Amino acid sequence: MESFTSKKDTILMNFDDFGEFSTKKLIIATNGFANDLFPTNDMKPARAQVLITKPIHNLKLKGTFHLDRGYYYFRNIDNRILLGGGRNLAFETETTTLLETTPLIQSRLEDLLKTTIIPNTPFEIEHRWSGIMGVGLQKKPIVTQVDENVFCGVRLGGMGVAIGSSVGNELATLASS
Ligand SMILES: Cc1cc2nc3c(=O)[nH]c(=O)nc-3n(C[C@H](O)[C@H](O)[C@H](O)COP(=O)(O)OP(=O)(O)OC[C@H]3O[C@@H](n4cnc5c(N)ncnc54)[C@H](O)[C@@H]3O)c2cc1C
Repeated sequence: MESFTSKKDTILMNFDDFGEFSTKKLIIATNGFANDLFPTNDMKPARAQVLITKPIHNLKLKGTFHLDRGYYYFRNIDNRILLGGGRNLAFETETTTLLETTPLIQSRLEDLLKTTIIPNTPFEIEHRWSGIMGVGLQKKPIVTQVDENVFCGVRLGGMGVAIGSSVGNELATLASS
């Protein structure tokens, strides 16, 4: 959806690909992308870059770990390592909704693998990607009404897997009250 307009008891939603649709209630759950639809106070996108290795023969590392104040996180998935983080290397560039990776952060992630996580272990990268979080000064989601019959549940603060269903519940209660 590119935009919406709230008119009396109808909301018109505009989609570049499909045209216009109307609805009685609209719930916005686009988290870090929410500023595209309505300006939020204190919510910015925060990109997080990730990579996963190809299977590593005889991998000993098992478990979930954090490094450098939590700016890096890694775990094994069977005999691969999933590693992400490094936003602190380029906060400004990573304040974006562009789903891309950058050489700066990806090379730092690889470097950490080589020097700290699995030194002296040959590895290859299978896949690299990024995701977008919604963050703000407060570590608390924004669950509120933004217009007539329009509600939002955003700014999940990088915790949406853990708290997403409870935010959804709160949002459903608000929208149906
Ligand atoms: C690398 C990474 C690691 C993470 N690790 C954890 C973790 O360990 N534990 C944890 O609890 N959370 C973690 N999170 C955070 C968690 O993934 C998010 O908080 C959660 O996905 C938010 O869910 P959501 O449905 O609100 O938003 P999203 O999952 O971001 O979904 C929003 C959707 O809206 C779509 N969209 C955007 N704009 C529009 C538009 N204009 N119209 C229509 N659709 C639109 C997007 O394409 C997207 O599909 C992590 C995030 C990242 C990026």
